[in-house]
Amino acid sequence: MTTLANYRDHLAEMRKLNSAASLLGWDQQTHMPPKAAPHRAQVIGKLSRMVFELSISDQLGGFLADLRKDGGLSPLEKASVRKVGKDYDRNRAVPPEFVEQFQIAQSEAQAAWIAARKANDFASFQPHLEKIVEFARRLAEYYGYEDHPYDALLEDYEPGMTCKQLRAIIEPLKCDLVPFLRDLATHGTPPDKSVVHGSFDPDALRRLSRRALELIQYDFEAGALDDVAHPFTATIGPGDVRITNRYPTDSFMPSLLGALHEGGHALYNQGFPEELYMLGLAGGSSNGIHESQSRMIENQIGRSRAFWQFFQPVLAEHFPQYGSGSPEALYRAVNVVEPSLIRVEADEVTYNLHIMLRFEIEAGLIDGSIAVADLPALWNQAMSDYLGIVPPNDAQGVLQDVHWSMGYIGYFPSYMLGNLYAAQMLPKIRKALPTLDADIRRGDMKPLLGWLRENVHRHGATYQPNELIERITGHPLDPAHFVRYVKEKYSDIYGL
Ligand code: ZN
Repeated sequence: MTTLANYRDHLAEMRKLNSAASLLGWDQQTHMPPKAAPHRAQVIGKLSRMVFELSISDQLGGFLADLRKDGGLSPLEKASVRKVGKDYDRNRAVPPEFVEQFQIAQSEAQAAWIAARKANDFASFQPHLEKIVEFARRLAEYYGYEDHPYDALLEDYEPGMTCKQLRAIIEPLKCDLVPFLRDLATHGTPPDKSVVHGSFDPDALRRLSRRALELIQYDFEAGALDDVAHPFTATIGPGDVRITNRYPTDSFMPSLLGALHEGGHALYNQGFPEELYMLGLAGGSSNGIHESQSRMIENQIGRSRAFWQFFQPVLAEHFPQYGSGSPEALYRAVNVVEPSLIRVEADEVTYNLHIMLRFEIEAGLIDGSIAVADLPALWNQAMSDYLGIVPPNDAQGVLQDVHWSMGYIGYFPSYMLGNLYAAQMLPKIRKALPTLDADIRRGDMKPLLGWLRENVHRHGATYQPNELIERITGHPLDPAHFVRYVKEKYSDIYGL
């Protein structure tokens, strides 16, 4: 057998074990009886360890060394060697004892975070977070970096992105968004949001989510929709990309927009050609590009005027009280802009501000310019500067996100980058599909999906995010597109 064939076999072993672990993980969150939890954790742990061992095996190292010298590889095979090789190098750089200790610290920090948030007691979480930060700093040293240690951590979520680039994106964005938010608040006329609230039957909400997923062309023959407490999308393997959702009954918005968001992630993963799975390239270019797909469907489509012109009668089929309402009132109601304390509830205009303050804190923690003990005060000051509100307590402030307790430092910027990537793609899409709005008004999402398949989905992780956005739009990421998009949309809605 050739090295390439052996390499593919090796990837196949990893892929099959990963599929089994993903399926068990999905089941753990959706259908598993509670008493099965301890055993299930062991089974998933065992499978994950087997995958990890394969990912750092000497055998794989040998294949990669040969293939890196092989001039006859196809572009896809080269991309595979680049990606699998990078993961191999990074995983090999970290001592196994460190990985184990970090995992223990994460488990302890998560338990401490849950208790601290409940008791609104940052001091009890502080020593755990100090430990996590210390581990993250050591991890950055193991991985290595050129400029800033944060770059080494970012690489896990947004390959190729640096702290310096992020600062260059964030500074102008902040200078545009903060005054615009003030303008909306002082000179704008806010929409009436009462129309989206009421009392909603969860079964009808579930049917509405299904209908919305059919509309965006989610393939139910290659997926499923199940109930869960915290929605996510699970990719089990080719032909199996599952969505989960939740159904609060006081508004149709969280479940509908949640379905569209997860649906956007799922369309991406349903769009990977099988060959990408074979080469370890199925999985998206980066977290940011993945978020661009979910946020585009949720916000730029699901919160658009054209969408509501089509969807108001659909909503009325499930909830007759909307039979007499106007699509315009619904469009305006789903686009209320309000500074809020909680990131996950933030609207399109304020969302990125929540990310900026997290990024600034993370970068400072990693380079040592910020101490964990100072976080509550720094957090509240940044909330006041950017959003004009101050959390009444740390539970609704610095303790609100699970990420840091899980050791995820460098993750938050992906959410913001997703908004920016999506906004940069949209003008290209409009140019290629001049009838986009008319198509959406008729409920025809096929042209949009066709464009996304061709330009984004089919490439999987073949290109790094900076390469992909440049391929699609002709230039590097530029936050000006996002600023233009929100200013146009919200000036119109708020009558500025
Ligand atoms: Zn998402």
